[in-house]
Amino acid sequence: MHAMRLSAPHTPLEWVELPDRIPGPGEIRVRVGACGVCRTDLHVVDGDLPFPGHPVIPGHEIVGRIDMLGQGVEGLALGQRVGVPWLGHTCGVCRYCHAGHENLCDHPLFTGYTRDGGYATAAIADARYAFPLGDEGDDVSLAPLLCAGLIGWRSLVMAGDDARSVGLYGFGAAAHIIAQVAIRQGRSVYGFTRPGDGTTQDFARSLGAVWAGGSDEPPPQPLDAAIIFAPVGALVPAALRAVRKGGRVVCAGIHMSDIPSFPYDLLWEERQLVSVANLTRQDGIDFLSLAPKAGIRTQTTRYALRDANQALADLRAGRFEGAAVLVP
Ligand SMILES: [Zn+2]
Ligand SMILES: [Zn+2]
Repeated sequence: MHAMRLSAPHTPLEWVELPDRIPGPGEIRVRVGACGVCRTDLHVVDGDLPFPGHPVIPGHEIVGRIDMLGQGVEGLALGQRVGVPWLGHTCGVCRYCHAGHENLCDHPLFTGYTRDGGYATAAIADARYAFPLGDEGDDVSLAPLLCAGLIGWRSLVMAGDDARSVGLYGFGAAAHIIAQVAIRQGRSVYGFTRPGDGTTQDFARSLGAVWAGGSDEPPPQPLDAAIIFAPVGALVPAALRAVRKGGRVVCAGIHMSDIPSFPYDLLWEERQLVSVANLTRQDGIDFLSLAPKAGIRTQTTRYALRDANQALADLRAGRFEGAAVLVP
């Protein structure tokens, strides 16, 4: 197998050839058809997240077909198409796992971070954490659903059913998917981009946003909720300022620059500030069953697997709309 592998933070991924891996008990081997590029991958490469201490193959938006089954795998078959997300394993015994909050597990493994991911021609996954995807839709279009879609979904649920107007800060892969879901649910979407980024504002409006503007602009009226996808701490006070009394601000990213101090007024009147961490398998089941009915269309830019460093650089610089996807 071939892969683009990270040996140390702040270094480019390297093209490596590795011996084909054999799935262990309860594992599957997936022949990768496509793997999305997530901002979290950038945080791993840039050292914003602690380095796992060993070389790692990034990538946690994997779509592919099972080409080998480990011992004892049930409910999955050779040749079946599956998606492999960020949550790669949980312990099943800690208080969080017991309480149905496996996204907060004390001893998790994360695909493309603490276990090898999908910037490769093949990947090994714990069968219990892979989602059957059916045969509708192509691999490239589906890949961004596996994290941008799933985390976006968890964030939208966290925003609350009663949030009829929702601001999305950072209109990238996650926002472009979840905007479509929110609109389909009858909510109004407000897209916030980097100040002056007219192209992305047009993109937001083309997907049905009722308003789009810079993150330094106030929305035309106070919002019920806001979700922050961009890794920029200064957006927290901006989003609090944009929501109404009792409104909720959801921080959806795994990393953010420091949040500047802000007057208590912005939080007062029962505004809420919460974060979303990881996903549960139930999130995946809920979202992936809803996604086809919602008619979600992902906008993707394809890169060859070998060009993963270019894809990451383009994501960092905001050079494309929607999501980047690697194709082996
Ligand atoms: Zn656990
Ligand atoms: Zn991700």
